[in-house]
Amino acid sequence: MVPGGTAARLSFPVGGPGRVLYNCTCMDAPAHAEVRCALCGALAATLDLSVDGVYEHAHYMGDITERVPMAECDALAAAIRAADIAALYRLNPLWAPFYCPECDRVYCRDHWRVELSFEDEPGLPGWYDCAHGSCPAGHRRLIDD
Ligand SMILES: [Zn+2]
Ligand SMILES: [Zn+2]
Repeated sequence: MVPGGTAARLSFPVGGPGRVLYNCTCMDAPAHAEVRCALCGALAATLDLSVDGVYEHAHYMGDITERVPMAECDALAAAIRAADIAALYRLNPLWAPFYCPECDRVYCRDHWRVELSFEDEPGLPGWYDCAHGSCPAGHRRLIDD
């Protein structure tokens, strides 16, 4: 007869099967930032990271919502809280399509020139492949893939 019955507690080692996703200490509160265009001061992007690891970034490429791998959510939260867009870009360039790393500046929708690329195969209609953006200084970078 095992004593305790329902009082027996389940426990798992850290990182084991009992671990709850997104329980890192930095995720106690959502992170939010708004960034402005270096040229005209217009709102270029709004960034939000929820406590359960959902990153929502709204800018000239649209309103994008994605789930962030837990290994990256601490760094992402820190970058957003510090409004450190260079750090955000280093984490994942596609998390900051509004940022030109060569200028080290943020630009708004009026200041990016977007080119969509289509993949073509003989006999098949082309389909959307990726997008590149050019900043006002002419630096070209991948902004969507
Ligand atoms: Zn540039
Ligand atoms: Zn602008």
